[in-house]
Amino acid sequence: MINVTRSSMPLYEEYCEEIKDLWESRWLTNMGVKHRRFQAELESYLNVPHVALYTNGHLALENILAVMEFPQGSEVITTPFTFASTTHAIVRNGLIPVFCDINDVDYTMDASKIEALITEKTVAIVPVHVYGNLCDTEEIERIAKKHNLKVIYDSAHAFGVVKNGVSVAEFGDASMFSFHATKVFNTIEGGAVTFSDDALEQKLTEMRNFGISGQESVSYVGGNAKMSEFQASMGICNLRHIEEEIAKRQKVVEQYVKRLSGVKGIKLCPAQKGVKSNYAYFPVVFDGCEFDRNEVFSALGENDIIARKYFFPLTNSFECYRDLPTASAEKTPVAEYIAERVLTLPLYADLEISDVDRICDIILDQRRKS
Ligand SMILES: *Cc1c(COP(=O)(O)O)cnc(C)c1O
Repeated sequence: MINVTRSSMPLYEEYCEEIKDLWESRWLTNMGVKHRRFQAELESYLNVPHVALYTNGHLALENILAVMEFPQGSEVITTPFTFASTTHAIVRNGLIPVFCDINDVDYTMDASKIEALITEKTVAIVPVHVYGNLCDTEEIERIAKKHNLKVIYDSAHAFGVVKNGVSVAEFGDASMFSFHATKVFNTIEGGAVTFSDDALEQKLTEMRNFGISGQESVSYVGGNAKMSEFQASMGICNLRHIEEEIAKRQKVVEQYVKRLSGVKGIKLCPAQKGVKSNYAYFPVVFDGCEFDRNEVFSALGENDIIARKYFFPLTNSFECYRDLPTASAEKTPVAEYIAERVLTLPLYADLEISDVDRICDIILDQRRKS
């Protein structure tokens, strides 16, 4: 069986060596030695002054939105073509998601459609670097400056991406990363927020630890979202191998591109100019062929190959948002169109090139059959 992804892990011995001293220190969580070391290594790798570590990416996003202290009921412009987490984090903060459509090239937010959605209640933009494709960061920054809005990127897919020498983590007011087991870089479960405003550091530290600000003082209604020493240790180990991981993924992607580009009815994302990719996902849009995405999905499934309808359904058509006036897939027709036709193919560092060929054969066979 070939799954859509497979977690990257260091050698068993390497991880054991890393966690050995925890049996002596008996310090398992609450910003211990591993946590501090991993944080410093990430600040350097991502080229940012501040990284706040979390037990998962979702809570990192919830917390960064919380410490911005936007008035309840404020509007946040975001994309429906994302994982449930992005929209949920906005709504769980008492904010209203306003859905901007995506472009049909790299499936990130269509920056030319943002300004029409801005009202006097708009406080922020939460775009997603979907599949590791970078948003139009320059245009988004221009709009944000002009209208005095915060920009918080969901960079869950974009760890390690660099544009013309600038790290993805440097864009916007803050950026959230996910280190979930299925992502390019993992700490089992885990996540982080990157930011440059010094004032946010203390707030985030307190917010992820019940709002506790001192021995006898609690200043926020916070939750618990701290990264443990075991997670941080996994991060320290996996970070040593990140470049090698990305290089292996690149080989897989190059084979997919070689086999599937230029085929009628199959649309691939073009490489972005000046961008060093992390090869996080391989989305394929089936458009203008005799068979549809669901048939390819089934044909692969019959061969024990698991692809994913990622992202389908759109978050603005989730059942839980049926009473939300801004949630309507009809208002984001490009996202709706792509969500009906996209499939992400299996992609992980150790995926054999012969398996990539087998997957492509099944897809191309489907074409001949129809
Ligand atoms: C994975 C993911 C998240 C959530 O991250 P977790 O670490 O799983 O909580 C948020 N947004 C996007 C786009 C994701 O893919």
